Parts: sequence; C-alpha cells; structure tokens
Amino acid sequence: MIPTKGNKLYSVLHGVCPRCQEGKVFRFAPYRNLDFSKMNEQCSVCSLVFEPEPDFYQGAMYVSYGLSTGLFLAVGVVLLFYLELGYGITFAAILLLGIGLLPVLFRVSRLVWLNLFFNYRPLNR
Ligand SMILES: [Zn+2]
Repeated sequence: MIPTKGNKLYSVLHGVCPRCQEGKVFRFAPYRNLDFSKMNEQCSVCSLVFEPEPDFYQGAMYVSYGLSTGLFLAVGVVLLFYLELGYGITFAAILLLGIGLLPVLFRVSRLVWLNLFFNYRPLNR
C-alpha cells in the first residue's frame, strides 16, 4: 500500500512536484529553523510554476482546516473518552500537537491543494 510514482499521495508524502513528481516543492526540511514555509518558485525538473496565480494557496487554508480539525477531534476523543485524561490535559495536548505539527500540516495542505490542480505527467526521456 505504499504510494508509487503517478499517485497523488506520492507527491504529497514526498513533497515533490505534482506534475513530474521529482522536483522538490519546498526549499528546506520541515523542522529546519522557521523556514518550513519557503517554497521553490518553480520545479527544478519540469519548470512547473508552484504559485500559478497570486494568493493561489488561500484555498489551502480549507484543506488545513479540515486536516487539523479531523486530527484534533480524533486525538481529543482518544485522550478524553478512552484514556480519560480530563479536559485540561486533553486541551493542552491538542494545543501542543497543533504547534508541533504546524510545519507538517502547513506543507501537507499546500501539497494537497497543488495536487488538486495538476496531474502527474511522466517526463519524456
Ligand atoms: Zn516538476
């Protein structure tokens, strides 16, 4: 069940261009300083422009909202109802999780959004 090249999940999980699935979308590793949001302007392999129009990634906020709400609800239900940790600890754990996963959620949201608009097209070599 590991996504292979050609699958959109491959692009999201590897942080690569949705079209050629080779060039990196983001410049640095997610937890390197505060540079997690810095993107390359275009793909180094197929030249796909990663910001095709101004404010393109505003729509990624909806993806981010959905992903984080689902994750926080799942964690909240487990901590509160299965482990019975109480509201304070559950709230603190969700808050810490939200802060800790910020770079990952930010990147996954943008990659999902980018993948909604561009399909895989193998390079002719
Ligand atoms: Zn590319």
